[in-house]
Amino acid sequence: MSKGSLFVISGASGVGKSTVLKLVMEARQDLLFSVSATTRQMRPGEVDGVNYYYITREEFEDRIRRGEFLEYDEHNGTLYGTLNGQIREKLTRGNVILDVEPVGAGNVRKAYPDATLIFIMPPSRQELEERLRGRGDTSQEQIRLRLNRAEWEIEQKDWYDYVVVNRRAQTCAEEILRIIAEKAD
Ligand code: 5GP
Repeated sequence: MSKGSLFVISGASGVGKSTVLKLVMEARQDLLFSVSATTRQMRPGEVDGVNYYYITREEFEDRIRRGEFLEYDEHNGTLYGTLNGQIREKLTRGNVILDVEPVGAGNVRKAYPDATLIFIMPPSRQELEERLRGRGDTSQEQIRLRLNRAEWEIEQKDWYDYVVVNRRAQTCAEEILRIIAEKAD
């Protein structure tokens, strides 16, 4: 039996979503984060089983065949997927938060029509571009691809339940916390 509510957070790469999410999770320790599986490399500071389950493409594809994913999507050459087991088990314990991009968010909504979908917007296109360039390790081509992807993601915001602008991480987190407080069980 499900006990909690589901909250889906999306936001284009470079929007500062991870900082906002961290503040939200710190403020509401009852929120359970759905840990996705991914084929991408672990970044410094990330922990296996906490940020993601880091698995090989072969294992990911095996798990697709076994029907373990509620949804999955490939972007920037990387597979990401929400595990059915994560959602089901965590919903029996409380409110669950997912960080997925719009394709995944749409599929989560199909499976869980009551899920609350929240989209984090950059303050402006210029700021998004600056943040993407600021990552340093990124080539011109990668920046162009990420900007194209970000623009497409931003176009999807209209079918989300809520859109919040990230001018300042703390204020954005507070806005999300108000939405959660209103909707949470
Ligand atoms: P990153 O590699 O920066 O952690 O994440 C890249 C993108 O993948 C983000 O937009 C994030 O929301 C998305 N993402 C993370 N986990 C999942 C997932 O399980 N499913 C889908 N569809 N997207 C995900």
